[in-house]
Amino acid sequence: MVLIHRPGGAFPHGWCSQAAMVRLTKITDYALLLMALMARRPGEAPFTSRDLAGLTGISPPMVSKILKLLAREGFLRSTRGANGGYSLASDPLDITVAALIERLEGPVTLTVCSAHDASGCPIEDFCPVSSPLQRINRVVIDTLSNITLAELAEPEGTLPARRWSRGSAAVAATKTG
Ligand code: SF4
Repeated sequence: MVLIHRPGGAFPHGWCSQAAMVRLTKITDYALLLMALMARRPGEAPFTSRDLAGLTGISPPMVSKILKLLAREGFLRSTRGANGGYSLASDPLDITVAALIERLEGPVTLTVCSAHDASGCPIEDFCPVSSPLQRINRVVIDTLSNITLAELAEPEGTLPARRWSRGSAAVAATKTG
């Protein structure tokens, strides 16, 4: 995850100054969406890239790339054959958002001094905000660790309902056709 608080920049003595947005990469963002969608429709598994591209509007090559990555990381199981595709490898209740983000992006680290191997900031010993920002980092990690894929997949998720229902028809057509 992107650092929001880095030492160096315009301030002397290494004070944090280079603020950056804390933002998931597009791949992680889409991975969460695809997995939430699969969790929400367990009876329709396995899903093909085409199914999921049709459901979400994400380009098929991007969906395919993310599904392969998720399978490689153990989040998805892939089955071959005419009715093959991808399905969740674990119960959605057992997959946390933190686990997925950390696997795809590395540790959630808001500041250099919040990293497990914190050694990159030269002023940590006398930095007045190091401790509170490390506390915030722990709160973020705890929050992400307490949200499961099952929760992301709840109907009141952020994906517009019309997209889900349109995709629903697309999947039904794919499976029966
Ligand atoms: S000690 Fe931590 S919070 Fe303080 S400047 Fe360095 S990285 Fe930022």
